[in-house]
Amino acid sequence: MQTFGNYINGEWVTTARTFENRNPANTNELIGHFASGSAADVEAAAAAAAVAFPKWASLPAPARANYLFKAAEILDSRFEKVAEEMTREEGKTFPEAKGEVRRTINILKYFAGEGARLSGHLVPSERDRVHMFAIRKPIGVVGLITPWNFPSAIPAWKLAPALICGNTVVMKPASAAPLSAWRIIEALHEAGIPKGVVNFVMGSGGTLGKALIDAAPLKAISFTGSEPTGKWIHAEASRRMLRIQLEMGGKNPTIVLKDCDFNAAVENVANAAFFSTGQKCTATSRAIVEDEIYDRFLAALVERTKKLKVGNGMEAGIDIGPAVDQGALQTILDYIEIGRQEAGAPVAGGNRLTGPGYDQGFFVEPTIFAGVTEDMRIAKEEIFGPVLAVQRASSFEDAMRLANASQFGLSASVQTTNVSRVFDFVYGMEAGLLTVNLPSAGVEYQLPFGGTKDSSFGPKEQGPAAFDFYSDYKTVYLKY
Ligand code: NAP
Repeated sequence: MQTFGNYINGEWVTTARTFENRNPANTNELIGHFASGSAADVEAAAAAAAVAFPKWASLPAPARANYLFKAAEILDSRFEKVAEEMTREEGKTFPEAKGEVRRTINILKYFAGEGARLSGHLVPSERDRVHMFAIRKPIGVVGLITPWNFPSAIPAWKLAPALICGNTVVMKPASAAPLSAWRIIEALHEAGIPKGVVNFVMGSGGTLGKALIDAAPLKAISFTGSEPTGKWIHAEASRRMLRIQLEMGGKNPTIVLKDCDFNAAVENVANAAFFSTGQKCTATSRAIVEDEIYDRFLAALVERTKKLKVGNGMEAGIDIGPAVDQGALQTILDYIEIGRQEAGAPVAGGNRLTGPGYDQGFFVEPTIFAGVTEDMRIAKEEIFGPVLAVQRASSFEDAMRLANASQFGLSASVQTTNVSRVFDFVYGMEAGLLTVNLPSAGVEYQLPFGGTKDSSFGPKEQGPAAFDFYSDYKTVYLKY
């Protein structure tokens, strides 16, 4: 069984202690042993990144891009294997994993392409014979901390813009699914990226996170994960005046109006609530349904949900894999119990799945609670699993009020054929990511990504917005 090392200053480094990575669909299956880094490893990684920075920053961006293009090619050559590993370590279905690996490859290529377009501003001066412009410059050593739910795409959408802007990086992936990110680092290594430019340290979030924030060369930190961890990072990183980017939790609503395309709306809600086991930050966890169609919609959604197949994501025909680990499963089951007390018995699901094919994994039925009111915890708190709260709205205005009654503002969706309602939703909804007649989850890399309220802090990720975090301006006034 392979032991996967940390990557520091261009070398694969083993550690005395390691941790295991097991398949959440079958815990008898060991995926590998992974280095368990220490604070000293993070310090060494940050020091290597600091040494590598000046040379990497002075390389023209299109030349930096060549390493990303090459890494994308290398990853593509292992496409099926990397996707299979993702299913085995995270639990999402094989088609979902293939979609994510394809997205990772496209993200690497997209930001590599941006290397040739890394422009600033050139504007006319009010003064005679003064040429004025602003150019982008990198920030320095950047820390990246990533979650397990998109174990490849999220590392990629932080790494690629950080590198193309000329920063050097120390990354800490999630312990529940480190191999998918490891494969990107391996591809960058094989692409010949200069030593010290990328560093990768695995291990306990608490220990390594603190060491990363405290590392003297660090200039910025980008984090995706839960709200409590994000808030802790904010407090610690603010002390050092680091540049901070946080992408955190959500409690995303889908508003279903009486004039929706009914069957499409049922499909969109089922997809957004349950696919990837509800473990997408943009997943729908509240369906807010207009009174006139509430009963019919709920019945159709329950019928659709009962047809979803839960099981090992490597098997054909499976819609929903397991929760990522025992802790995630327990949180989901705890919230189902809270839901029973608050809203009564679920109208679909509600149980851990047991029996052959299930006993060695963390499987739970997709679960729907009906008649949920806004004061209930299952309407307010992020569950991060396949549990949907259905709420009744007396009108569109009531639906919008309920949708906005949340501390979070990551994604939101409306299902309607009324164009005025669409625009009322677009301008009135307090969320960073909106979809219309689509699932609330499912984003592309070419546009800004991120939320509002307690879901996010700092500049947005992805698309052209990514450069707002990973670069700074230098403004020049020149008399000729
Ligand atoms: P998490 O527990 O906050 O962990 C995220 C990352 O932070 C992991 O690498 C973790 O390491 C590390 N970490 C843990 N404690 C830390 C600390 N004290 N200091 C620094 N780093 C620390 O979140 P998760 O359970 O992996 O991910 C699920 C959450 O992510 C959900 O809330 C979801 O909504 C959110 N999410 C948000 C977005 C978005 O774009 N808004 C996208 C995806 C997920 P270990 O794994 O070693 O603990």
